[in-house]
Amino acid sequence: MADKITAKQFKAYSVELDGISKATMDAHYTLYQGYVNKTNEIREKLEAVDLASANQVFSDVRALAVDLSFALGGVKNHELYFSNLGGKGGKPDGRVGELLDRDFGGYDKWAAQLKAYGMAGRGWAWLAYDFFDNKLHNYVGDAQNSYPIWDAVPILALDVYEHAYFIDYGTRRPAYIDAFLRNIDWQDVASRLAVAEAMAKARGK
Ligand code: FE
Repeated sequence: MADKITAKQFKAYSVELDGISKATMDAHYTLYQGYVNKTNEIREKLEAVDLASANQVFSDVRALAVDLSFALGGVKNHELYFSNLGGKGGKPDGRVGELLDRDFGGYDKWAAQLKAYGMAGRGWAWLAYDFFDNKLHNYVGDAQNSYPIWDAVPILALDVYEHAYFIDYGTRRPAYIDAFLRNIDWQDVASRLAVAEAMAKARGK
């Protein structure tokens, strides 16, 4: 039986962000709490569902399991996004900076591609450590439940759904993405990268 999950606290809510308002962040947190509540509700219903009725056209199992991937995706995506915020942004040093240089030709090239991916995606853009080639890649994700490519670990999440910026920027998504880049907590990204590289090493690659 799946444990009930609860909404977490994030440091991005105890500091003032540059260009992303408290009103936006509070509205965004309410949406995140909604994903948490729906995850619990769907999991509870799945405990009691008739598994023998499973059908790909329509069935209660299908409806619940597909929507669970959306709700839980919404929880995980936002937990990554919120913990990525609250830092000084700009050009990272340390291992993240080294790999942005190695895999993208520098911070500016990486940021230009992430911004373009943030304009091309309907909901999300990620920076991920990919075990296919043990390199960093930007990836687009459209919905909460369309994940980055398999076997890769997202280490940075850019939420480009309108709710992440319309209070502050209306339809001006590029200005919001610039603000996002000014608030990245690179220490959070670096600790996620360290875990991904340790996993790659453990896999003997
Ligand atoms: Fe969001």
